Amino acid sequence: MLTDIKSLTREELEARFKDWGEPAFRVPQLLDWLYARRATSWDAMSNLPKSLRASLREHFSLQTLELARKQGAQDTTQKFLWKLADGAFIESVLIPANPALYGEASDRHTLCISTQVGCAYGCKFCASGLEGWKRNLGVHEIVEQVLSIERWNEATLASAAAALKESSTSTRTIERIVNNIVVMGMGEPLANYDNLLAALKILNAPWGGGIGARRITISTSGLAPQIRKLADEPLQFRLAISLHGATDAVREKIMPINRKYPLKELVNACEYYQSENGRMITLEYILIAGINDGLDQIKPLATLAKRLHAKVNLIPYNKVEDLPWERPAEDVCERFLAALEKQDVTATLRREKGGDIDAACGQLRLKTEREVAKTAQTSVAQSG
Ligand code: SAH
Ligand code: SF4
Repeated sequence: MLTDIKSLTREELEARFKDWGEPAFRVPQLLDWLYARRATSWDAMSNLPKSLRASLREHFSLQTLELARKQGAQDTTQKFLWKLADGAFIESVLIPANPALYGEASDRHTLCISTQVGCAYGCKFCASGLEGWKRNLGVHEIVEQVLSIERWNEATLASAAAALKESSTSTRTIERIVNNIVVMGMGEPLANYDNLLAALKILNAPWGGGIGARRITISTSGLAPQIRKLADEPLQFRLAISLHGATDAVREKIMPINRKYPLKELVNACEYYQSENGRMITLEYILIAGINDGLDQIKPLATLAKRLHAKVNLIPYNKVEDLPWERPAEDVCERFLAALEKQDVTATLRREKGGDIDAACGQLRLKTEREVAKTAQTSVAQSG
């Protein structure tokens, strides 16, 4: 299998072009095709000499993601199910900014991206881990989630303009749709550390995605050693910790990782992360009925949040098919929030309706894989 061109940094491309005896100015030309024009074929790169395109084709692949399914209407949260080159499925979720939350214009979007096919960490409530871990995503597969959404957006705008018989969008500049990235899709990002970091460097670079590090949030279930490693990186990404329990007893019930890295170790790693240039941490806390929504969690949660100077995001659980967990009643969530605020903790509670589409990543893939398996079984049964 060839290495994909979108897993190389600018420096790596420069070194390669130098080896090939290509002039240095060809590198920015190639980068412009890859990340500004988001080309999907070597042939499209018309200002690169044919001989260079032939060498590139011989040494690198230029993979894109195939859109297998899409859920959700324009102006709402939209889920994209991508089929990868080996037939595996991953999800990305495009979320319009909530002006009430961030005070930004609604053409701003956050893209939630995946980093693995499946997940090995097996949190009891999560759809992504239900069928185990299949593989890590390559650098280009992480980067392509952003590029594919931008291509899709461009095509959508172009067809809308064509329907209105407006002039072609190719003569207008199209604003990028992805302004923020949250690495909260399928998989544990810090378990695919090297590919994640390489991809985020490309998405952050001015010659690549151009998305500021402070607009990129990495969510982790709590891999303490990798949090420390991330602290030593020069790029200042935001970090979200999937806490979901403020005591070891509660956390252990739902997150097996807590046995390997109990709260004490996790919190120490978070403090180390913050000791470097005052980096910000958010604590994510899904509220699951009867599991972690008791007021006994308030005091330890408040203590933790204050120690880490962290904001707490409360998220009512999204029901996953086949799993017994439920979201608490609205008044239980509101009471939890109020109790936390009373302890002088900055907290938000996600209140939007239509939980099925806003559900965390992993569910559309699960549904599709089960449908695919079912169809395969039926066709085997029919042919046999
Ligand atoms: N593996 C990383 C990132 C992916 S999960 C992590 O665990 O942080 C992203 C977030 O979605 C995590 O906070 C996770 O706990 C949460 N999540 C998973 N399943 C959910 C569900 N059914 N409802 C609400 N949040 C869920
Ligand atoms: Fe994996 Fe995160 Fe889901 Fe846990 S919550 S199983 S770490 S994706």
